[in-house]
Amino acid sequence: MNRTVHIIGAGLAGLSAALKLAARDERVIVHEATAFAGGRCRSYHDASLGMTIDNGNHLLLSGNRAALDYLRSIGAERQLIGPAGAEFPFIDLATRQRWTLRFNEGRIPWWIFDSTRRVPGTRAFDYATLARLIWPPPGKTVGEVIACRGALYSGLVEPLFLAALNIEPPQASAKLAGAVIRETLAAGGHACRPLIARDGLGPTLIEPALAALQRRGSTMRFDHQLRALQFDGGRVDALDFGGETVALAADDAVVLAVPPYAAAALIRGLVVPTEFRAIVNAHFRIEPPHGWPPILGVLNGTVQWVFAFPGRLAVTISAGDRLLDSGREALARTIWAEVAAIGGPAGELPAALPPWQIVRERRATFAATPEQDAKRPDAATAWRNLVLAGDWTNTGLPATIEGAIRSGNRAAELIADRRVNRP
Ligand SMILES: Cc1cc2nc3c(=O)[nH]c(=O)nc-3n(C[C@H](O)[C@H](O)[C@H](O)COP(=O)(O)OP(=O)(O)OC[C@H]3O[C@@H](n4cnc5c(N)ncnc54)[C@H](O)[C@@H]3O)c2cc1C
Repeated sequence: MNRTVHIIGAGLAGLSAALKLAARDERVIVHEATAFAGGRCRSYHDASLGMTIDNGNHLLLSGNRAALDYLRSIGAERQLIGPAGAEFPFIDLATRQRWTLRFNEGRIPWWIFDSTRRVPGTRAFDYATLARLIWPPPGKTVGEVIACRGALYSGLVEPLFLAALNIEPPQASAKLAGAVIRETLAAGGHACRPLIARDGLGPTLIEPALAALQRRGSTMRFDHQLRALQFDGGRVDALDFGGETVALAADDAVVLAVPPYAAAALIRGLVVPTEFRAIVNAHFRIEPPHGWPPILGVLNGTVQWVFAFPGRLAVTISAGDRLLDSGREALARTIWAEVAAIGGPAGELPAALPPWQIVRERRATFAATPEQDAKRPDAATAWRNLVLAGDWTNTGLPATIEGAIRSGNRAAELIADRRVNRP
């Protein structure tokens, strides 16, 4: 062990790169601008609710292989919970109809032939249109490849792509939608089981990673924001943290695992996605009614998904930009009215607003349009000891936990195999 790898940013991309490199006995230092790790995937104590909550509900699927490997490597895979099969209960607020989508395990989708398992109002034949998205023509939107209307669209395509791509599906990149279809529906129900972090994102995805890094002798530096990269010819030769400059030895390497706007500020001329979409989460301190499903899809409402946790119901609204400027309390009331209208199995939720919190992440993900996707850079850069990571780099996936972790793994691979930093 004779060189140091500096990792800038302690989100999932930075942490996964750090874990892979530390496992190969590299000396790792992680520099994080804020006082905490996790970036856009974190837990925090919320004073108005008096409880620890996540910045946003995060859903994994059983086919997220890099995320599951990451969790296994830090001993936290058992903290994910979900139903035994690929089941998604739904309610339509307009009609009050309830149903459960139930995918079968294998690749052959016989569930589409069973009217009790597919979207109400659809026929098996309708699902054939999804095949057009598996390998779509380049540069197209979903709206240019399939018709964005009808029961299959509103009962499956729209909720799936809103959640996975965080954008109104007609505008979404068909290429990214295709990656989602290939890794989920087309892979079979065994890849579609929904999984959530039972005890929260921090205790599941972040704290065990920090403990693993500590055991492997890696160093974490919080409140340590990289202000500038200093370049010398074909390499980075120093890191400027404002008041502290770290000179890099000939063999040292850097993984820049910061959001795209931060990376663009550090590397002049770097082309990155510049448009974003918001995600709005509402949390209500209330015990979920007995029998409330862990994850419930909602159609024809402002609410898109409701997650049930001990002592709390939490709502997710993807592509929630239209809600960024509305008053917080008015928004909480609108959302709660819908949740209360769903009621429990026996309709037992009060109309009165329980203690609440609204968390609006303005730049939750880059906008998954064909134009923005085309701006995603590869991990390797023009500088031989500098590699990029992050959910916005060119992973072929939308901005997700899975994409962030794969990007970190890829960055670590490039460095460990000395495909970068060759003198
Ligand atoms: C509300 C919400 C809900 C989501 N839901 C889901 C979901 O259900 N399923 C899913 O798979 N994904 C979901 N995502 C997406 C997922 O959270 C992200 O894809 C992932 O966390 C991105 O990780 P990252 O490491 O690429 O970036 P980030 O988490 O943004 O990490 C970047 C880190 O770099 C640090 N940094 C920035 N500048 C500097 C600097 N100059 N020096 C040092 N450090 C710096 C930041 O502080 C941050 O910690 C959601 C995201 C949000 C916001």
